[in-house]
Amino acid sequence: MMNADQDSWSRVKERLRMELGEDVYSSWFARMDLEAIDEGSVRLSVPTRFLKSWIQSHYAERVLACWQAANTKVNRIELIVRSAVLRSVAAKPKAPDVETTGVNGMRFNANSGRPPAPADASAHEALGGSPLDARLTFDTFVVGRSNTLGHAAAKQVAAGRRGDPVLFNPLYIHAGVGLGKTHLLQAITWAGNAASERKVLYLTAERFMYGFVAALRSQTTIAFKEALRGIDVLVIDDLQFLQGKSTQAEFCHTLNALIDAGRQVVIACDRPPSDLESLDDRVRSRLAGGLVVEIGSLGEELRFEILNARVTAARTHHPGFDVPAPVLSYIAKTITHNGRDLEGALNRLLAHSKLTGHAVTLEMAEREVRDLIRPQEPKRVKIEDIQRIVARQYNVSRSDLLSSRRTANVVRPRQVAMYLAKTLTLRSLPEIGRRFGGRDHTTVLHAVRKIEGLVGNDMALAEEIEILKRQLQE
Ligand code: ADP
Ligand code: MG
Repeated sequence: MMNADQDSWSRVKERLRMELGEDVYSSWFARMDLEAIDEGSVRLSVPTRFLKSWIQSHYAERVLACWQAANTKVNRIELIVRSAVLRSVAAKPKAPDVETTGVNGMRFNANSGRPPAPADASAHEALGGSPLDARLTFDTFVVGRSNTLGHAAAKQVAAGRRGDPVLFNPLYIHAGVGLGKTHLLQAITWAGNAASERKVLYLTAERFMYGFVAALRSQTTIAFKEALRGIDVLVIDDLQFLQGKSTQAEFCHTLNALIDAGRQVVIACDRPPSDLESLDDRVRSRLAGGLVVEIGSLGEELRFEILNARVTAARTHHPGFDVPAPVLSYIAKTITHNGRDLEGALNRLLAHSKLTGHAVTLEMAEREVRDLIRPQEPKRVKIEDIQRIVARQYNVSRSDLLSSRRTANVVRPRQVAMYLAKTLTLRSLPEIGRRFGGRDHTTVLHAVRKIEGLVGNDMALAEEIEILKRQLQE
């Protein structure tokens, strides 16, 4: 195969990674190989039928579009399942995969051909933080039992001054979705940057991978150190999305450099450090070595307070918007999940009252937010039904799901099935583990979190799971 083809292929992979995010990319594309390019036809291979059918039904257009961006002659993608035998016979030297070459497929190299950025450019400009939401400040953060400690620690970090000893490093905040992690992290960033002598850099893990790391790579080692010196507080959100060996190595390097230089690091994640399976032990223990704080689920009282604060804030733009206390209580009582659902509920009431000009009443609220309320008594779904329907959907057998096989074509369906078992039944993790061939409860937990993490990013998977849920609840 020509070198130019391998180059295009690297670009396609890089693009897929950028567009889909690391987690989706590594789940579906990490083991895709380029076999041949013939005229306008590109032949790609994956190791399993499952991967093939999944990619075909969910990402075919995307893959083609990425190829066309890299090589305008391409008009067709052919996806095949490579057989292990053929592979070993062919025994072609495998191009180093993306894992070892880094997020953008380039090795860091001081002589990479790009001119090094001027070392005196301020770190913030050179490294570009993620966009911030103006509403996510300490002023709008409501403190309650479940987040007192997280809030206090965040405040403490935000109040630090340049040169102050750092009390706990890193500060690691973990919680489920919608419980205020991003809110606290951005509040720290706003507060820190308002006190102008300090530089607080807020990065989503994604930004860290694609922006920050690339910026660092384009500079010399000296510039790298310079750049880090300019940062007083590095804030990283959604650490669970940080994937890939080289990114993690980069992260570890940055973490150590900052902590050793007495700079503060703040991290949010959807799980505790001990559950970040893909991370190196040393990084994990470094993460756990600071202060690890969990934010618990929002209690009813806290939900009420958050809603109340939201309404007050909304009234500055929509003075006519009035939500009677009984409606707030109703929402606080019935929408128990997370801050995002609360926000969604209020947005509906606001939209409704704006569009119809009617006052917000309890009846209207009940009607508007009905589908945000998860039913109290969900239909009892049996684990066997889940296994049967998932197996059918992914074209594997039920005994595959229960087996100890770890190939991708059974691992993902198994995770989906465990996830559904956890979300649709009242079975405990150990019980679910037992029903899946005697697995440990931590395996189940991992599967549940894995899928939870993926569905946030992968619309196709989210839809797939919705369909499975519907089938099961019918
Ligand atoms: P996470 O990052 O943990 O998924 P977010 O910080 O994005 O959650 O919070 C989701 C929504 O809930 C946001 O609109 C946020 O402002 C709101 N929220 C969560 N906790 C609080 C709180 N304690 N006070 C005010 N708003 C909150
Ligand atoms: Mg968040």
